[in-house]
Amino acid sequence: MNQHQPFEDFKNKYEECNDRFESIFKHTSVASKIINKDLSILKVNQALIDMLGYSAEEIIGTKIMDYACPEFKHHWQDLQDAMWNRGLPVFKLDACIVRKDKSLAWVHVTTVCFEENDEHFGFTVLDDFSDQKGLEATERRLSMALKNSKMAVWELDLGHGTILHTEGFKQLFGVEENMQTWNLNDMLDQFIAEDAGNLNLVLEQIIPEGLLDFQGRIRTIDGVVKWVHLQGKASSVNGSIKVLGTMTDITKERLAERDKDDFISIASHELRTPITALKASLQLLETKKETFDLRSNSLISQANKSMDKISRLIDDLLNVSNLNEGQLKLRKTHFKVMSAIEDCCHHITAAGVFQIRIVGDIEAEIIADSERVQQVVVNFVNNAMKYAHENKEIIIHISDEIEQVKVSITDQGPGIAREKVPYLFDRFYRADLNAGQYSGLGLGLYISAEIIKRHQGRIGVESEVGQGSTFWFTLPKK
Ligand code: ADP
Repeated sequence: MNQHQPFEDFKNKYEECNDRFESIFKHTSVASKIINKDLSILKVNQALIDMLGYSAEEIIGTKIMDYACPEFKHHWQDLQDAMWNRGLPVFKLDACIVRKDKSLAWVHVTTVCFEENDEHFGFTVLDDFSDQKGLEATERRLSMALKNSKMAVWELDLGHGTILHTEGFKQLFGVEENMQTWNLNDMLDQFIAEDAGNLNLVLEQIIPEGLLDFQGRIRTIDGVVKWVHLQGKASSVNGSIKVLGTMTDITKERLAERDKDDFISIASHELRTPITALKASLQLLETKKETFDLRSNSLISQANKSMDKISRLIDDLLNVSNLNEGQLKLRKTHFKVMSAIEDCCHHITAAGVFQIRIVGDIEAEIIADSERVQQVVVNFVNNAMKYAHENKEIIIHISDEIEQVKVSITDQGPGIAREKVPYLFDRFYRADLNAGQYSGLGLGLYISAEIIKRHQGRIGVESEVGQGSTFWFTLPKK
């Protein structure tokens, strides 16, 4: 046996190990370098070159601390001293380094001391955690923003009834900060009974991808009643439905809205009596207008037209305050839809300017509050005359469907931009900001929607700019 064999074996193994290390060093995606006792970089891998943005030639011979942000240099140097002068075998730190393009990278640094041919070297890996750092910073900023806003973020697991939430959640409810457990029942208990029932119902019906939008009253521990707005989206996580959302204190907004409603209610009630008297006087003058000269004659007609507009505006305001006060009582009767439409549109066809064509299932009948249904039809027709006045034909289509009747009113007017459609039935919404030429308060469609909703029907519009509009509603037959 060759007496040099063990040495040869050892040498081969050593070279094999060295080759493996070289290969790993070169190909690993973890930025690595080797330094000597002077801390000069002797060797870098591609990952570190990529991280720093300098070439290998630019890096070799420099010290890694040259790249560190000033606030980290001191601590890093101390650790190096401990390793090279006091025999510390390994050290770790988190630091921030500046890349060639001046951007910052956060790195976990680990340096291990090793010996080769009686010389000491340091092997360092730098693990980039900038993404995580960025995320943490974003989270911190977000929670700071949330802390200073009136909003809380919460996640409700409907399967287990548990709730995860940010700090603001308990503050909103006025609950002790140290109260640890918090579940759906705890939350529902804070709502006043009527709203708790409604919220529970909404949550019971929510489906994955469904949206939650609920406003209700809570009573804080000190007995203060607050309005809160819960908004969120449901998703299915591991077979359980979770609702992630926000909760906002909207007490101020609700109080302001109540003040506005009170003002509208008082103003419209106060205006009604003098307006009725004025209207009666003007109508009397209208019947006697032949006795006046031509100019007075035309003034009387003008005054009557303006009076009609004012009456309509006051009616809208009164209707809204009645709705708010829950005074919209339905008086349902059995009637033919076509006859109700003809009755309420008679004055329009009689005036001769606009033509109304009623088509479709003209025999359809329903059980509903005919006066309220006529109010919706008149509102749609008035809008068609107002906004599509150039086109003189309005088509009303009645469709007798199995369990409901659908009434659609089509005009060939300017149409409505798609992004405005979702707001058309909101209170005081007017789609055309230049609508100054048309009188109105943006209440007609809101009132119509409320009337249809109370009949358990649906209301909507199909419209395209330049292509006219079709406003429709459905009513259950019974
Ligand atoms: P108002 O007519 O008093 O503004 P409405 O609630 O009846 O209030 O209507 C809301 C808005 O919807 C109107 O301001 C108008 O911009 C738009 N709109 C309603 N009907 C039509 C229509 N037939 N064609 C075009 N725009 C319409």
